[in-house]
Amino acid sequence: MSRIVGIDLGTTNSLVAYVEGGVPRVIRDPEGRALLPSIVAYTPDGILVGEPARRQLVRNPARTIYSVKRFMGRGYEDIQDELCHCPFEFLASADVLRIKVGDSAVTPPEVSAHVLRALRQRAEAFFGEPVEQAVITVPAYFNDSQRQATKDAGRVAGLDVLRIVNEPTAASLAYGLQKLAQGTIAVYDLGGGTFDVSILSVKDGIFEVLATHGNTHLGGDDFDRVLVEWLLADIRETHRVDLSKDPEARQELRLGAEAAKCRLSFDDRTLLTLPFEGFTYHRALTRAEVEGLIGPLVEATLGPCRMALKDAGLTPDRIDEVVLVGGSTRVPLVRRRVQDLFGRVPHSQLNPDEVVALGAAVQAQILAGGITDMLLLDVTPLSLGLETLGGVVSVLIPRNTTIPTMAKELFTTSVDGQGAVDLHVLQGERELARDNRSLARFELSGVDPMPAGMPKIEVTFLIDANGILQVRARELRTGKEASIEVRPTYGLTEAEVARMVEESFEHAEEDVNARLLIETRTEADTVMTHVERALAQGAGLVSAGELAGIRGALQALREVRSGQDRDLIRERTIEVNKATERLAEAMMDAALKGALSSRRADEILGPK
Ligand code: AMP
Repeated sequence: MSRIVGIDLGTTNSLVAYVEGGVPRVIRDPEGRALLPSIVAYTPDGILVGEPARRQLVRNPARTIYSVKRFMGRGYEDIQDELCHCPFEFLASADVLRIKVGDSAVTPPEVSAHVLRALRQRAEAFFGEPVEQAVITVPAYFNDSQRQATKDAGRVAGLDVLRIVNEPTAASLAYGLQKLAQGTIAVYDLGGGTFDVSILSVKDGIFEVLATHGNTHLGGDDFDRVLVEWLLADIRETHRVDLSKDPEARQELRLGAEAAKCRLSFDDRTLLTLPFEGFTYHRALTRAEVEGLIGPLVEATLGPCRMALKDAGLTPDRIDEVVLVGGSTRVPLVRRRVQDLFGRVPHSQLNPDEVVALGAAVQAQILAGGITDMLLLDVTPLSLGLETLGGVVSVLIPRNTTIPTMAKELFTTSVDGQGAVDLHVLQGERELARDNRSLARFELSGVDPMPAGMPKIEVTFLIDANGILQVRARELRTGKEASIEVRPTYGLTEAEVARMVEESFEHAEEDVNARLLIETRTEADTVMTHVERALAQGAGLVSAGELAGIRGALQALREVRSGQDRDLIRERTIEVNKATERLAEAMMDAALKGALSSRRADEILGPK
């Protein structure tokens, strides 16, 4: 088996790593540099990648592509708010996004492929043998098309991308947090241009992203920017010179400010010396001064942290581990504020620039079989669910869920005295059962006959680490149980998966409409059945006028029930409900009352 490397394909910098003797390590270039700037320049002499591309960024801005990660898997419409940040030009088109380079155009995955190829070549030179397989990391908030675009970039670079891993998961793997029996982890990632925070849970080696928040335009570059503005003002005051309109001077100031900022992460004070035309600028800077300037930006990262906690339904004291990622987490003020917020000392022993790549290497090693005491992390390619009344699908496990996984839901019956229920297990992305792949059918029999809506049937979907699905159904009142084992991906080729996912996008609207119509009709049927039964039992409890009202409303609903007008069916159902309010009250039958009012149609299993 060929080597599998771990790659952090970053917005600003990218890295490649591998595991040697159980320890993950970053692979450096011959000059000893771990970081490869994610920059690609298209010059008349050929394509430059990394440092050489960065060096000519100022000279050739229109043909030097950076931050391309922001555009991966996105359409022209999606990126309008990014355009003002970019010196390069995009071609407006309905399909794949294209960046103009001279007379031709390139797609974001093609640009990323150059970066990946450079990393692959670095690894090949290091090992002295071909490298064809990789694990690549992406932000937790990346959607399917952004992940797919990343995979495509790998393919173009000649890499078989075995797994796409979330960056916060990789950072946690680098710190060995998969070994926690159970815990919650906050991953705080502040790089050069982006900030994100993710709350993960880990249990028995399986990570789940509970929430993520951030700001795609906040990072160390902003720290540099406020420092530059402050230095420009200081130069105006001390030397009576305005350098703000001089691009070269600004660039010098930016480089000087960034270097000073980095030194102040380790020293309390530093001296800035910058030669300009006609004078040399000397400035002593203290850490406290710089903290005063960047303080508001650091505070701006805490709001998203609180929101992520809130979305995850957690308070800071429920976080067990905090992991720091990204070069800007070296800033002592950042570390203090993160520690204050979560009330824990963050993990920072590893290099924050390298931690994601190191984790990707750990994942690669798991896949290669070198680490056997860990479970594989995998995801379900398509959603898994159950057919419910009216032929609609109730999804229990959405696609892309990490496995092993388990989902439970309560269902009930729609017909009085139902002694058995039929369970139909389905796989796919469509709303209607008939458009999905049927995986299995089985029966839960021996349910004691009860009125409709009374049985409580708990259905559990369990997928183990090998992708084997077990479906169990249990009637909670009687304890009756039935189960079946299904292999969910059996026989599905990649092309089939791709086709099914594509179809679900194509048919999304018509599917939703069909589903809503069926649900509305089902709701109407349920209401009509129960009202008819209530009338049979309790007609004497209400006045003749009220009875006539109920019968009229029922008839009006019956007339429209099979039509296509969803709103009309819903309206008349509501009218029947209203007309029977007094009758229902009078009958004091809790089960019946429940069925008349708010039971959701998709929680009712089809009759046997
Ligand atoms: P990343 O995007 O993770 O590579 O982070 C890059 C950012 O980290 C840049 O803004 C750097 O200026 C910043 N950075 C790197 N080293 C340090 C340091 N020692 N102190 C403060 N910021 C740093």
